[in-house]
Amino acid sequence: MLTRDVLEDPVALTRALVDIESVSGDEAEIADQVQHALGGTGLKVERFGHTIVARTELGRPERVVLAGHLDTVPLNDNWPSRTEGGLMHGCGTSDMKAGTAIALHLAVTEQAPRHDVTYVFYECEEVDSARNGLKILADKRPELLTDASFALLLEPTHGLVEAGCQGTLRVLARTAGRRAHSARSWLGDNAIHKAAPILRSLQVYEPRTVVIDGCEFREGLNAVRIGGGVAGNVIPDECVVEVNFRFAPDRSEEQAAAHVREVLAGFELEIVDSAPGALPGLDAPAAREFLAAIGQPRRAKLGWTDVARFATLGVPALNYGPGDPNLAHKQDEHVELDKIVEGADVVRRWLTAGA
Ligand SMILES: [Zn+2]
Repeated sequence: MLTRDVLEDPVALTRALVDIESVSGDEAEIADQVQHALGGTGLKVERFGHTIVARTELGRPERVVLAGHLDTVPLNDNWPSRTEGGLMHGCGTSDMKAGTAIALHLAVTEQAPRHDVTYVFYECEEVDSARNGLKILADKRPELLTDASFALLLEPTHGLVEAGCQGTLRVLARTAGRRAHSARSWLGDNAIHKAAPILRSLQVYEPRTVVIDGCEFREGLNAVRIGGGVAGNVIPDECVVEVNFRFAPDRSEEQAAAHVREVLAGFELEIVDSAPGALPGLDAPAAREFLAAIGQPRRAKLGWTDVARFATLGVPALNYGPGDPNLAHKQDEHVELDKIVEGADVVRRWLTAGA
């Protein structure tokens, strides 16, 4: 139960949220409890499936979002939580119930933030994008997100600020040949051999490192899969190289695709998947205030996160959370108790400074 005592203590609240099992698709119970906890706060609470939105209506000139997902990856013999020394172990401790607990703790206890705040507790982050509670909210009721000038996602960053994220593009590069019996190979045309220049181009490719707003983004263009050939005695008539381009957010998806076409000029290419990156967005006044409150260097986010979803809505966003991102989705996932306390302090300091 999320009693008042628990809600007032971010560590106890993290433990309580971890101990409500909520593997993606199974968030009814945790969403019920979060909704109930927000009941007596005076916040305007709305529910969409198992996504809860709670908004202050204080008439402040600016509004910010604090967001955390409620789901976890499947349990792996690591539930319920176990606290030992200064560490809380268990599925979801790092990714990201510690961060979600900080948002819920502030939603319930912070009466006078300097900005209006929209708290978002959402379902299905760890599965297909189509089921993502934040995506569904952005499609159905975008105005609940777009009236904010800044969003803070409390995903695990180990107490550092991670800004922006890289985009990703997957491309199939195809070569065609002609089948023949390998005993009379001169009658055929080997499509696998024809893929050599594709691999050579990727091998000698020199990826950029781009610094944007003080964050370093390292790009990468790599073959991630290759297929071709039909039998041990047949000259192959097709070869497909799957190429993944992770690109810095100063390129649009279109520019990223054009770049890959340039590198692999002359080959038949098919784009099969694409997602934009997100610029760090550190110019937003609320983002600057947050950086000042935390007083830490920032670094670039190298994966793809929901920060990009906010960026496409025109809302600059950062990741900042207590958990260690390298422990996410691992069996020995854990979070340091003092990182939870520190995280709650930092976010509260930011929300109340100058108020
Ligand atoms: Zn997460």
